[in-house]
Amino acid sequence: MCGIVGYIGYREASTVLLRSLQRLEYRGYDSCGIAIRNGGLEVYKDAGRVAQLVGSVPRDGAKSGIGHTRWATHGEPSRINAHPHTDTDGRVAVVHNGVVANFQQLRERLTVEGCSFCSETDSEVIPHLFSRHYS
Ligand code: GLU
Repeated sequence: MCGIVGYIGYREASTVLLRSLQRLEYRGYDSCGIAIRNGGLEVYKDAGRVAQLVGSVPRDGAKSGIGHTRWATHGEPSRINAHPHTDTDGRVAVVHNGVVANFQQLRERLTVEGCSFCSETDSEVIPHLFSRHYS
């Protein structure tokens, strides 16, 4: 079962998010990732354990972010399919638990409208949809 965490505050967001994901490891997962906001969005993902991700994430003063441990339903366990997923411009990052039942239709429509997809997941339609409605 996946794990989700979000943080906004005065502490180093990447440290809080990674520690929180480690506390959720008992739920089981196949990959993990975080997105932090430090001016723009920065996304860090790994196909393995949270411990592997720790070394690749900078402690750069970001004070907010989201994190995810994934239990794959659509798309193999891999770094590309790990969450967070972003919209085409990298303005919106999303972590998601569950299934988007109509993702195939949404993905086809969004692709025609110009969105670029990177992963095989159902979840990636969410940041694209969010971004379009936000704009
Ligand atoms: N369906 C999504 C995926 O396969 C979310 C999986 C989860 O809940 O961890 O990426």
